[in-house]
Amino acid sequence: MNILVTGGAGFIGSAVVRRLVEHPGNRVTTVDKLTYAGNLDSLGTVLERSNHRFEQIDIADAPALRAAIEDTQPDWIIHLAAESHVDRSIDGPAAFIHSNVVGTFTVLQEALRFWRGASPALRDRFRLLHVSTDEVFGSLGPDGFFTEETPYAPSSPYSATKAASDHLARAWHHTYGLPVLISNCSNNYGPYQFPEKLIPHTIVRALSGQPLPVYGAGENIRDWLHVSDHADALLTIVARGRVGATYLISGRNEWRNIDLVRTLCKELDAQQPRSDGRSYAEQICFVPDRPGHDFRYAINAAKLERELDWRPKHTIDAGLSDTVSWYLQNTSWWQRILSGAYRAERLGLEVST
Ligand code: NAD
Repeated sequence: MNILVTGGAGFIGSAVVRRLVEHPGNRVTTVDKLTYAGNLDSLGTVLERSNHRFEQIDIADAPALRAAIEDTQPDWIIHLAAESHVDRSIDGPAAFIHSNVVGTFTVLQEALRFWRGASPALRDRFRLLHVSTDEVFGSLGPDGFFTEETPYAPSSPYSATKAASDHLARAWHHTYGLPVLISNCSNNYGPYQFPEKLIPHTIVRALSGQPLPVYGAGENIRDWLHVSDHADALLTIVARGRVGATYLISGRNEWRNIDLVRTLCKELDAQQPRSDGRSYAEQICFVPDRPGHDFRYAINAAKLERELDWRPKHTIDAGLSDTVSWYLQNTSWWQRILSGAYRAERLGLEVST
């Protein structure tokens, strides 16, 4: 297979690329702009593999993307490149419009152009998987689940741009016949996650003796999935999913933020106790809630389980424990990030244009 992955130097994209290059029969091109969130360290030894090529490209740059697609002659395009952090979207939404909306439009246009010019056999097997989030559905109350039929109701600039990109992807299938599939996944965790997201943010700040900020009263609920289970689901969907279909992906692991942070503190207490013998949980502090913070996300992934027989392999307890170990054993990965522009400061309070 020839496969082009956008956003392959990011958290989830790098997990997908690492998985794909394991198969010597695959030829993989990673396309990534290397924004603050993109990190070639996350691809590690993949960069030395002869069946992998890296192209530093902004997906909104149509001629550059066209050249990468022509060179790759992809059977599949797996599209993950996006601005992905809700707090940053509150401070500066323009980058989200650029990458998530204009960028996805450009990916669709260039994929269509390539697909229309491809041989009949390649046209038949070509797939574009557009990777999205459950945040497009807005917030749930204490009960119920998102399904593939849930109406869109995005709340943040991030989720609004992801919703726009989903609509574009769906329209390029309905209008032009482009073989598109869409996936919407719940919150991911695991190795190589940029330390601004809740789980690595908590681990990194705990280890450096800083306060552990929890929004509001920590009652907000998220549904967590290990990143390697997400990568597995994406490859299942692109290989065997129905063209034009949407699949929701979830690990069915609903946690209140405060419980998650306390569990991480317990894991740290066990794996790397504080020198004063006290618990990391003493560093927890409550900060004013994020503007427009969605209360609860939870996904019913029955369609993916039923149609494609996909199940997550990681339990949340083992997954969180492994994740804490990974951050303890890979301090150089996140310390290189922290010594750069990003300093694990609080984002998402100021609105700028
Ligand atoms: P990430 O921020 O870790 O990585 C995004 C990658 O995209 C980075 O490497 C960045 O350099 C690249 N990128 C951004 N703008 C680009 C552009 N204009 N051109 C080329 N590359 C660009 O994000 P992630 O957490 O790995 O998320 C990947 C995808 O999965 C996103 O589309 C996100 O919406 C979706 N998603 C994420 C989660 C989650 O919990 N992290 C859950 C569901 C869906």
